[in-house]
Amino acid sequence: MADRQAAVIGSGFGGLAAACRLAALGVKTTLFEARDKPGGRAYVYTDQGFTFDAGPTVITAPECLQEVFTAGGKRLSDYVQLLPVSPFYRLVWPDGVQFDYVGDVTALEEQIRKISPRDLDGYRRFYDYTKRVYAKGYEELGATPFLRFWDMVKIAPHLAWLRADRSVYHTVSQFVKSKHLRQAFSFHTLLVGGNPYTTSSIYTLIHYLERKGGVWFPRGGTGALVRAFCKLFTDLGGELRLNEPVLHIDVKQNGTTKHLVTTNAGTKAFDLVVSNADVHHTYHRLYATSPDAVRMASRLERMEWSMSLMVLYFGTNVRYPDLAHHTILFGPRYKGLLDNIFRGNRVADDFSLYLHAPTVTDPSLAPPGGEAFYVLSPVPHLGRANIDWAEFGPVYADRILAALEQHLPGLRANIVTQRMFTPADFRDVLNAYHGSAFSLAPRLTQSAYFRPHNRDAGIPGLYLVGAGTHPGAGVPGVVNSAKTTIELIRRELGL
Ligand SMILES: Cc1cc2nc3c(=O)[nH]c(=O)nc-3n(C[C@H](O)[C@H](O)[C@H](O)COP(=O)(O)OP(=O)(O)OC[C@H]3O[C@@H](n4cnc5c(N)ncnc54)[C@H](O)[C@@H]3O)c2cc1C
Repeated sequence: MADRQAAVIGSGFGGLAAACRLAALGVKTTLFEARDKPGGRAYVYTDQGFTFDAGPTVITAPECLQEVFTAGGKRLSDYVQLLPVSPFYRLVWPDGVQFDYVGDVTALEEQIRKISPRDLDGYRRFYDYTKRVYAKGYEELGATPFLRFWDMVKIAPHLAWLRADRSVYHTVSQFVKSKHLRQAFSFHTLLVGGNPYTTSSIYTLIHYLERKGGVWFPRGGTGALVRAFCKLFTDLGGELRLNEPVLHIDVKQNGTTKHLVTTNAGTKAFDLVVSNADVHHTYHRLYATSPDAVRMASRLERMEWSMSLMVLYFGTNVRYPDLAHHTILFGPRYKGLLDNIFRGNRVADDFSLYLHAPTVTDPSLAPPGGEAFYVLSPVPHLGRANIDWAEFGPVYADRILAALEQHLPGLRANIVTQRMFTPADFRDVLNAYHGSAFSLAPRLTQSAYFRPHNRDAGIPGLYLVGAGTHPGAGVPGVVNSAKTTIELIRRELGL
């Protein structure tokens, strides 16, 4: 099979995992990345001795990462070291309530008891529920390619049994009464681009996934995990081509199908293409000469896209004591703010923030005596709020930093390096439709069969991986999308 030629477009975690799995099958694989470094949303910035992971920081489900290395006959631990993170998250509310969301059950229950002793029993029942959802939703359905409507019909009874029609927030509220705990066990959907009030209860499985597998951080940052995937890929004989954006792809059918992939370096024919680029970009731009792709692009334009983010990376010349690696700073409003983010046409005056302080786990990410951070604020995507981010970005950044000074005293005076990534950057740098940070929103009506399929139905030899296909966003989601897609290819090629 070594004479089969595959192109993977995009080196996000989905593209990297797919490229490694293809190379492990003996398929000659070329990975095209538009940017100067791999990783996609997990790009790395370095400045003045600080290392900033641009995107994913909460690494869960390590077994799905290990599986990629196993497919290539290697061990993950020979390529990168995963460090445990505790607490998983520190949650802080404006009324002074604080909750350390930890993996250890006794310590977690103690935290719950401190906030709302009457919710302990409800929490235990919630945990049992998430365990059932995980077994069905993650282990079984996550790896199923939903190519036919019948595949969806077959799982309908299970979805009904799990009450997948209910939202995460609604479901959590059935089990616990405390306002704080309802937020603590529902905010996770935001990590995959979903509104807790509209995202299917299937996503409560994230709670079980974290309890079961823990929360991890690679030594050297998430970038070290990206480098590990790249090394695995080249060790398996793959070719990684950076700074080589794919401009367009023409499909030629002459007995067999060939994809003529054009980049700034020329045109080359491939037997199959696995696109990890934004799904809308794939259909609207890359396959623009195919009528099927044009139809698909306009269908995608009618779907709901996840929110965008304002991300601010900054390094300080001092260290801050008592930090947690991951802190969620809830604002005064929960549902109201979420309505603004997911339905509004402007950026709200208040915010809920996620603060990343990786130097808590790995001090090597900043110069001695310094601290590396990023803070992110979810904001509406550009299709809803057409904001001039070049102008508004710096203003908003300063508002965020001013708010952070409540928690990090004297912050602005201690910052020695700073950069931001706005919704306009998601659109312009990552080709993300509407500048969405997580692709198509994870609604039930946009999941499984209703999400763009792992194998395109109209264009032979075109496959998808990444946040825009099944099962969806998040590192485990996109790495599992590669497992599903490459398993399809393996069967179809008889490998
Ligand atoms: C700020 C932020 C924080 C996050 N935090 C977490 C977290 O803590 N935990 C978690 O699990 N998930 C997190 N996520 C979600 C997770 O990062 C993403 O869902 C996942 O990384 C997306 O991977 P992907 O495979 O879809 O590819 P992407 O990362 O979207 O990469 C796509 C790649 O395709 C390239 N590309 C696009 N067009 C072309 C072209 N024409 N030619 C060549 N290349 C092209 C792009 O340059 C990019 O490198 C976060 C996301 C963001 C933005």
